[in-house]
Amino acid sequence: MGLLSLGTPMDWHESKKWNEHVRENGIEQLLNIFRQHAKRDGDKFLWGDEVEYMLVDVNRKEAQARLSIDHDHILEDLNDEEGHPEQFARAEAANVSFHPEYGRFMLEATPLRPYDGTNLCDYLYVEENMVDRRVVAKESLPANIVPLTLTAFPRMGCATFTSPPAKAIGPASQSLFLPDEIINRHVRFPTLTANIRKRRGAKVSINLPMFPDVNTKLIDDSIPLNRDLFSSDSEPWLGASKPGHVYMDSMGFGMGSSCLQVTMQGSDINESRYLYDTLAPLTPVLLAASAASPIFKGYLVNQDVRWNVISGAVDDRTFIERNVEPYRGYDVFGGLDVSKSDKEHVEKLGGGVGVNGDRVVNSSGDTLLQTLDGKPIQKVPKSRYDSIDSYLGDLQHDTKYFDPQYNDIYSPINSKVLSQLSQEKGLIDEQLSKHFAHLFIRDPLVLFSERIDQDNKLENDHFENIQSTNWQTLRFKPPALYPATRDLSTTPGWRVEFRPLEIQLTDFENAAYSVFISLLSKAIIKFKPNLYVPISKIDENMKTAHNVDAVTKDKFWFRSQDSWGLNHDEFIGYDLSWFDRFINRGNDELGVDEVYLNGYKDKETIEEETANCDDGDNDSDITATSSNGTSANNASLPFSKLSANEIINGSACHPGLIRLIVKLIATELLPETAQHHCDTSKLAQQMTKLQNYLKLVSYRASGKIPTIAHWMRTVVTQSPEYARDSKVTERLNYDLIEKTIHVSDYDFTAAGGLLTEYFGADIASYLKETGYGQ
Ligand code: GLU
Ligand code: MG
Repeated sequence: MGLLSLGTPMDWHESKKWNEHVRENGIEQLLNIFRQHAKRDGDKFLWGDEVEYMLVDVNRKEAQARLSIDHDHILEDLNDEEGHPEQFARAEAANVSFHPEYGRFMLEATPLRPYDGTNLCDYLYVEENMVDRRVVAKESLPANIVPLTLTAFPRMGCATFTSPPAKAIGPASQSLFLPDEIINRHVRFPTLTANIRKRRGAKVSINLPMFPDVNTKLIDDSIPLNRDLFSSDSEPWLGASKPGHVYMDSMGFGMGSSCLQVTMQGSDINESRYLYDTLAPLTPVLLAASAASPIFKGYLVNQDVRWNVISGAVDDRTFIERNVEPYRGYDVFGGLDVSKSDKEHVEKLGGGVGVNGDRVVNSSGDTLLQTLDGKPIQKVPKSRYDSIDSYLGDLQHDTKYFDPQYNDIYSPINSKVLSQLSQEKGLIDEQLSKHFAHLFIRDPLVLFSERIDQDNKLENDHFENIQSTNWQTLRFKPPALYPATRDLSTTPGWRVEFRPLEIQLTDFENAAYSVFISLLSKAIIKFKPNLYVPISKIDENMKTAHNVDAVTKDKFWFRSQDSWGLNHDEFIGYDLSWFDRFINRGNDELGVDEVYLNGYKDKETIEEETANCDDGDNDSDITATSSNGTSANNASLPFSKLSANEIINGSACHPGLIRLIVKLIATELLPETAQHHCDTSKLAQQMTKLQNYLKLVSYRASGKIPTIAHWMRTVVTQSPEYARDSKVTERLNYDLIEKTIHVSDYDFTAAGGLLTEYFGADIASYLKETGYGQ
């Protein structure tokens, strides 16, 4: 997560003096990036994934599973060519690369080299690479320390949840629940933790609704009543904790969670912008379809995903920026430096409220409060970790679907940055400038004193400092800077990172979701659907995606299927059964020659299947008015509420996402020799694997198989150990972890048909027959 520089990190009170310096130079670096790369084109569709692991110490004698915080040295060993040549070579030979993450108990691993998205074989190699990552990590660890891909550790923040035990008395986080020993030893991380708290002017506070069960006491009784170690200890009693909610007070609760991220490279900046925009409405849908975190701090909670936990965990906004009253005795400006007179003005008079809800100094409402270094203090509606605020626009791409009214939420921008970006005419257009000017409303969180002065023509750390601490559902990633002599075609280009997915328990699932996103991205680029809906609707969907079983029980605002700009007839037959017809000779005999490329359906079948489809008017279309009523007024925008099933699996009259992917495979990724028949058993195996990847996502969306969150909640609530009080005890935690280990090992001998319950009979038998777990 973010940039790791070596050196001496500065405390907030020191580093804030450099805020403007970082922004100004960061934008200069960005301008240089555009000067160097804006016109590059023809980049290959390369992609990669990132998997985050937790090291869990499983003590079978004591029936305990705890987060291991003393095996983080393996990360250094695996990267230490001189000190640990064998381990290093092992990782390199396996084409895997290990990176640090926020938690001392965490590992992140990626492929060393990106995958080639034009090559079918690479989509099948992903899982092998993921398996290798786990194997290499395990080889470096004792048998009791297991790297697990859990989104949230169920008992993080409970009495004793680490191995070895550690006390929650650390000065970096001042948490009542999390020891500082869970934080990565690299100085960046404790500094980041402390600086967020110092800028905000209070500890972060996250409140998750408890899952109400018959014996649930709707009160978080894990909050210590009388601790008197830091002045912040009283915050829960000053309004930080809410009744009926599980209260969490530290960065680690969020950044100690794991996810799956997928990054794709577009052929040029315009294609990447279109891809970014088109993936945006999918972020909440895929978040819900990957839901894997129903338990936090030892409580079953009334939601299924981690997103709002991390959002709250790194929320460095001051009270005034959040537009809320400060706790009694706290400074509304948090750790910002403001003039005495501004401070007095606000304290005595409260200040006026200007347009957009900004607090202003004078009654006419046009003078914004400022920090001493001249940065306006704005109302900031979202945390740095949140959903995206605006589309980038595709008007330079051949699609040209974007309409400025889709950017319908209030998203504050740094106007100084905006004018700095527009100094060179034609270099960066308005939408993109606004995107970066929004990211640059944030302050840098950690600075290293050795890295203050940089060569803006060759270095981009200042830009990355702000960019990589804006953790949004998508990240638009510009290339880096290179010496003028460098052949740019071999360097990474304009990329889009898809960030909402929760990590899945098995490599099969993580490969499936990664392949789903990368193939979908390639299909989006090829078939050019128009999926724009107003950003305010995506934000509503983000809230919805948190709900228990949202993927099957809720609906999401989405562009009406008739308005995707696709001709449904062209996708007929490219459903999951296409694979069966392609793989099995005999299934494909329809007596018509060209059937294979046409989804294996003949004209009559097409007519029959679509007989009841209407001609494009969708009764459920809604006339769009944005939530704040400002833009999009009276515009009739074609969006409606769809289920994840409709979006992902489509229907008789609409393609859905899966058919785009299947058609892409059938018409672009198959080797030329196999355009009409699957002629080798190897290809048949590969196709069956891809089919099962797509089945996994398809079945989660249709509810045929449970999400991990649903499965975990059921495991806990059906255990005889569970007291129906929403609490996940040490024993319940251990039992759940043991089950997740059986799942991640594909242990078909596990009691109670565990694997079938988890994957459904169909996928489970595929896995068993193809030798998983042996
Ligand atoms: N672990 C974070 C999450 O679950 C992501 C950190 C990162 O950006 O790598 O979303
Ligand atoms: Mg990460």
